[in-house]
Amino acid sequence: MSASVHLEPHIRDVPDWPEPGVVFKDITPLLADPAGFAYAVRSLAEPFAGRGITKVVGMEARGFLIGAPVALHLGAGFVPVRKPGKLPRATDSEEYALEYGTDRLEIHADAVGAGDLVLVIDDVIATGGTAAATVALVERSGATVVGLGFVIELAFLGGADKLAGHEHVSLLTYR
Ligand code: AMP
Repeated sequence: MSASVHLEPHIRDVPDWPEPGVVFKDITPLLADPAGFAYAVRSLAEPFAGRGITKVVGMEARGFLIGAPVALHLGAGFVPVRKPGKLPRATDSEEYALEYGTDRLEIHADAVGAGDLVLVIDDVIATGGTAAATVALVERSGATVVGLGFVIELAFLGGADKLAGHEHVSLLTYR
């Protein structure tokens, strides 16, 4: 791997957004910095290089921005997991709990299947609900989750506990 980049200065904290009490981790300065963006993509891909990853699954929307270049780096395909009603063909869906109420994620029913080795990528893991729902979608298809990767882990929210022992890589961990 070439020169390391200190990622933290490229993440902007936005207090009380999108709602009071939440500190939003804005990765757009990282995306705008070519060296930082390339370093983040390489750092998420390289732990999984040589492990036969066939598909990178990224969650709407910032998981697309990180997951797609990780897929290219690994020579894998990219599969989007989207919010309800966005994917045009037959989907499988998984509901997951939010602080108040529930949400749902969808994947094209034929996007991954038996024989696929999958890396799941998102920008942030917070409570872990999004990641756990995505793992459920992938595993229900018969594919294997090799691991997960996040730019940022909000470890004080305990999201990794929902990953059922799957290997995960986080580039920046806030405790
Ligand atoms: P969770 O399901 O609670 O782990 O939330 C993860 C999803 O919500 C990811 O797709 C993130 O993009 C987004 N997210 C949650 N909390 C934050 C935060 N503090 N800053 C930025 N994105 C967040």
